[in-house]
Amino acid sequence: MLNTPVTDHFRLQEPQKRALKRLRLHTVRDLLYHFPSRYEHSGDQTTVSGLVQGADAVLHGTVRKPETRRAWKSKRPMSEAWLEDGTGKVKLMWFNQPYIAKMLRDGAMVKVTGRVEGKGSLYIANPEVEPVAELPVGGVDTVFGEPEDDQLFAIYPETQGITSRWFRHAIDRVLRKGVLDQMVDPLPSAVTSRYKLPELNAALVWVHQPQRESDALAARKRFAFEEVFIIQVGKYMDRHARNEQPTLVIPDAQKHTDEFLTRLPFTLTNAQLEAVRGIAHDLSTSPAMSRLLEGDVGSGKTAVAAATAYAIVNSAPAGRPSATLQVAYMAPTEILAEQQFTSFCELFGHLPIQIGLVTSTGCKKFPSKVDTSTSTKVSKNQLLKWVASGEIAMVVGTHSLIYKKVQFRDLAYVIIDEQHRFGTKQRQALARKDGLMPHLLSMTATPIPRTLALTLYGDLDLTVLGEMPPGRKPVQTEVVTKTKRPAMYDAVRKQLDSGRQAYVICPRIDEPDPRKETAIQTKSVLAEADRLKREELKGYRIGVLHGQMKPVEKEQTMRNMLAHEIDVLVATSVVEVGVNVPNATSIIIEGAERFGLAQLHQLRGRVVRSTHQAYCYVLTSEGNPTRRLKALATAKNGFELAEEDLKIRGPGELYGRAQSGLTDVGMEALKNLKLVEAARREAQALVAEDPVLEKRALLAELVHAQSKKLHFE
Ligand code: ADP
Ligand code: MG
Repeated sequence: MLNTPVTDHFRLQEPQKRALKRLRLHTVRDLLYHFPSRYEHSGDQTTVSGLVQGADAVLHGTVRKPETRRAWKSKRPMSEAWLEDGTGKVKLMWFNQPYIAKMLRDGAMVKVTGRVEGKGSLYIANPEVEPVAELPVGGVDTVFGEPEDDQLFAIYPETQGITSRWFRHAIDRVLRKGVLDQMVDPLPSAVTSRYKLPELNAALVWVHQPQRESDALAARKRFAFEEVFIIQVGKYMDRHARNEQPTLVIPDAQKHTDEFLTRLPFTLTNAQLEAVRGIAHDLSTSPAMSRLLEGDVGSGKTAVAAATAYAIVNSAPAGRPSATLQVAYMAPTEILAEQQFTSFCELFGHLPIQIGLVTSTGCKKFPSKVDTSTSTKVSKNQLLKWVASGEIAMVVGTHSLIYKKVQFRDLAYVIIDEQHRFGTKQRQALARKDGLMPHLLSMTATPIPRTLALTLYGDLDLTVLGEMPPGRKPVQTEVVTKTKRPAMYDAVRKQLDSGRQAYVICPRIDEPDPRKETAIQTKSVLAEADRLKREELKGYRIGVLHGQMKPVEKEQTMRNMLAHEIDVLVATSVVEVGVNVPNATSIIIEGAERFGLAQLHQLRGRVVRSTHQAYCYVLTSEGNPTRRLKALATAKNGFELAEEDLKIRGPGELYGRAQSGLTDVGMEALKNLKLVEAARREAQALVAEDPVLEKRALLAELVHAQSKKLHFE
């Protein structure tokens, strides 16, 4: 029964079928794992006068005038009645169910449960009716009074076409049919008992039909643990499989990185130095490195990447002493790829190696034969040949270009800048013909709370660059109230007049998936750009950037910004402003209340590149700036802010469900570091003992299903 389709067990109407499909609830198991978003007390009952459209209502009263009639439009037979309580009367309607009217008696005392519908005049649609022995007497007050059996009932996430009541009913039915007897707990019983988590069967009843609030909470905690545990088991299995694969060991990685550091015009921060040491150690040992390097914009991740890449391009593959091992460097945009290519040419220019750049519009090679201090254009075919033959030691390009198109001869090190979705599959695509696993360094400036990092990047080791190079002027951040707007534009104009550039970020309209962009947002960018052109920033060159532009148009706009052919770039936040413009010193963020703190911090990072003093103006469309926004002005780094966000706004707000692949219950786990760490420990122990889940078929199946859900794979 567990794995049979829901549709086998219930007669469903089309809208309900569609709703189930949308929710991806196919089997009875899926149905049981569809958890309520909250609970209501039956004590939350209301009166006719207190009905609100769209709410689930519980009413006590007397049935009046039950009758069968034909529906107004469809002419289908239906039932109707009135419910009367001390405060008024409301219509009850049952569509397609003419027999119900026949079962109701005028004057019967009942309890009615159902959804309140209707625009002008409210009615209760398809309510459940239970006879009651007596109505609360003594007037309205006792009607409102505490009912005898204060039950909790589950409210499921709102979806068009299907009601909470349907879920309660359907789940009750499958539970009564004995489905629990067929359930196997994917959590080992040693684990549930160690953390005092309810076993699966109890938890399923408690989550859907709790008697007490505490039972529901215990059940949710258990399912949160289960979800994180299953993700972690998957991650550790990946890691285990990877660790079985041989890699390229660079014995004197440390020596090379040390040499590189002496060539740099600055000394590394302690955090950078530690990161370089750690990575050099990883490169000099087996299995292959898999590391995530987190650091705010400007914390110097590139220097870490370069120092460690230096060890690779100074090492020869086995048996070919005159050749070098290869590095792939992947940037999120073509312009960033070009910028990185240029800095690598400077940093590695003294070495007898060649560096390549792959973009969709053209390719480059360094050094040029004619002038060894510069790069030269080459055809893509030619470049790809040189990479395949091993003549080019380092290739820089975008993620998609490199992992889809480029064949390497001796790839030993893959560096990925700001790409979260680079998973096992992509990495496998880069794997070498001889089966040797290249080392992987993934870098991100996105501040991720620790629990989320541990959960989603559980297969990576984590290094955090928690400090900035010395001498940086922190961005001056100001929360701007309405009256201070004119002064802000004055200040920005002053910056522009002295030859600087600026960004204006337009508000995000609330969206479940922050990566999607709506027409409304584009409109707000275009409208604001227009307004600024006519009003405060009249006479300046204003460009726009939004997600509905074609990739080539976006690239062109960013190029124009970089070349200072644009003074002010008006953009949406979802667009990765994928270019470093050191000349940009001001950023105006409109509608800031819609952003998480960590996001705001990242946007602010756009102007951190500058050697000039930079300014960030935070504006809200609501009246008063919140304490939250004020925290932005004082916070030290993005990681603190990410943790703060998690506390204040909750994980669901922070990372859209679609983006993380976690359910709402799984998201709840992210607030609980102890729980996440415990799930990790247990997953690790289990995989160490049974690396391919030989003895745990169900768990293997769940791990597989889960990894398909996660976007990162
Ligand atoms: P990230 O990639 O983390 O945003 P970058 O590696 O691009 O940061 O570094 C930003 C700037 O700071 C670069 O111009 C770089 O040369 C410089 N930089 C990096 N590390 C240091 C350091 N330890 N001391 C001084 N300047 C540094
Ligand atoms: Mg960088």
